[in-house]
Amino acid sequence: MARTNLPEPRIPPLPTSRLSPRLGNQQHPRQSGEERTQLSKSQHPFAIAVGCADSRIPPEIVFDQGLGDLFVCRVAGNVVDDHSLGSIEYAVDHLGVRLIVVLGHQDCGAVKAAKETIAAKGKAPGHIQSLVIAIRPAVEATVKDDLKTTVEANVKNVVQALRSSTPILKSKVDSGDVRVVGAYYSLDTGAVNFLEEK
Ligand SMILES: [Zn+2]
Repeated sequence: MARTNLPEPRIPPLPTSRLSPRLGNQQHPRQSGEERTQLSKSQHPFAIAVGCADSRIPPEIVFDQGLGDLFVCRVAGNVVDDHSLGSIEYAVDHLGVRLIVVLGHQDCGAVKAAKETIAAKGKAPGHIQSLVIAIRPAVEATVKDDLKTTVEANVKNVVQALRSSTPILKSKVDSGDVRVVGAYYSLDTGAVNFLEEK
């Protein structure tokens, strides 16, 4: 599995290894009533997942995690608005989460719709247009490329937006306290590839 080549943070390694899909060997951990009751006292998720609302991509199932493991924000096209950014900041600031994963996926309908709408110089109905606007920079950067390339470009844009988000995230990313990584999920295989960075 590809890993990012960011400089290592100055504090202990982040638990990216826990974000393995464990294909064919899923454990379905921490889902018992006893564990649920224990978690009623507090939560200590080890990662934030910024994912698509697509019904096929629940991060807890993709990464084989249980209750209390992942703090999840899901919007179609795995884009981030002010409400999700506030949620992410809360998880970083109050819950101490240090790893953020932006998870794009194969055959993303939101990215596909954005590509088609922009190619047709059209406008999507209702509030769907807000997703088209959010995904537009990735579409325009990959006009002649396939959907996968645009999905990955969109993931990288969201990663960069989170890394440069002031005042909370940027300073923590710059100091190495928080790491933001992008990933791509294959519907065909269930594999997650972490995106290489330039
Ligand atoms: Zn999607």
